[in-house]
Amino acid sequence: MNIYYKCPNCNTENRLKTDATTRVEFAMKKGNVTDLECCQCHQTTSFKVNRLYAKESKLISILAGIIFIIGTAIGLYFLMKMISEMKFVMGIFLVATGLLAPIWIFNILNKEERTRVKTFNQTYVKE
Ligand SMILES: [Zn+2]
Repeated sequence: MNIYYKCPNCNTENRLKTDATTRVEFAMKKGNVTDLECCQCHQTTSFKVNRLYAKESKLISILAGIIFIIGTAIGLYFLMKMISEMKFVMGIFLVATGLLAPIWIFNILNKEERTRVKTFNQTYVKE
């Protein structure tokens, strides 16, 4: 996941990719204090792991949004088909599936991301 830190010199938010899912895990790999360079002003600052934080990924929100839109479009397509063919029972079933599946996927993706961010942000390393 991506974790973030703010440069004290220029206030730029920097991103760091790591496979650690908690601060404790991150500290085990890199130590309680890490030297990180700012991508904007290239100043290196020592960060305590507790000052690093996770954020919800925009990519996952975008992806979830796309699935949601496509799913809704498919749902509407079936709705139109249902209206034109008058197959109500089957149509309602298809529309329901077509509309509920993307909402369901959307929720799962968002929930997982929130949980990951929360897990990282709520675990602190003992100083
Ligand atoms: Zn900076």
